[in-house]
Amino acid sequence: MMKHVVYILILISQSCLAQPRQVAVTIDDVPNVNVFQRDNFRSILLERIEELNIPVAIFINEKNIYNNAFVKENIACLERWLTSNTVTPGNHSFSHINYADTTLESFQQDIIKGEKLTTQIMRRRPPYFRFPFNSLGNDSASYAVIQNFLTIRGYIHAPFTIESEDWAFNALYEDALQNQDVGRAREIGQQYVIHTMNLFHHFETLCENLYGRNIRHIYLCHDNQLNTDYLPALIKDLGKSGYSFISLEQALDDIVYQSTEFYTGRYGFSWIYRWEKDQDKRKAMMRGEPVDESLHIEYQKLVNKK
Ligand SMILES: [Zn+2]
Repeated sequence: MMKHVVYILILISQSCLAQPRQVAVTIDDVPNVNVFQRDNFRSILLERIEELNIPVAIFINEKNIYNNAFVKENIACLERWLTSNTVTPGNHSFSHINYADTTLESFQQDIIKGEKLTTQIMRRRPPYFRFPFNSLGNDSASYAVIQNFLTIRGYIHAPFTIESEDWAFNALYEDALQNQDVGRAREIGQQYVIHTMNLFHHFETLCENLYGRNIRHIYLCHDNQLNTDYLPALIKDLGKSGYSFISLEQALDDIVYQSTEFYTGRYGFSWIYRWEKDQDKRKAMMRGEPVDESLHIEYQKLVNKK
């Protein structure tokens, strides 16, 4: 009997070993110059990431540099991100335009404009590109054209598998802070971490069903006040769940990222859905995603108020 128990325990531990939980953290819309200015020209998010000592890929909108009058300081901020050992840079276009709403020529120009400062600082082009809004254009033909352009310029396209609407949580979080409602702000921060963890567990199960294993995930979030204050808590909870933190390059080594993308339109959902050929199955999967109802209600209220 004892022998059997030991054998089962060995099997369980082996299957845990065979199912590593790995994620690459990626941060979009860098640099957030408003938060940088408010924090006396420090990027506390970057400082916390360095303390956590995890690799991150950042996706830069160089237009952000000119969002306020402190251009010189903002360039120094970008430089600080780019020279950090833990950071891999990516271009996110200059002005965060939606490829589906512009012409091929303007989008190409925006990509070229978006690599200027980064290339000057790094003395080489950033290796990655992420589409603003994860919009790949209006159809597969427009996607193919821009993909070809990106490849020629040496870019690797960066998809993602998990995001948790951190931008919406952040809007509520900033609003609570503005109203000096620290308790409410803390509630929103904790809600963000819980919802994100729920999504991770949801996608683990989904991947188990689809591929018979957990894949190397790519988490997408933004350079904002919410992540400055709550990304460390999220990283801690992910670590407790057995996640280790890998680079974007290591994540993309997972063969799953070579799957055919059956959806190449303007909507910015997870690549796990895009790799599903059957539209009905895809829609059913998307409907099964955990939703934070109160987030949507509160966010809508906030939008209506403004
Ligand atoms: Zn973005």
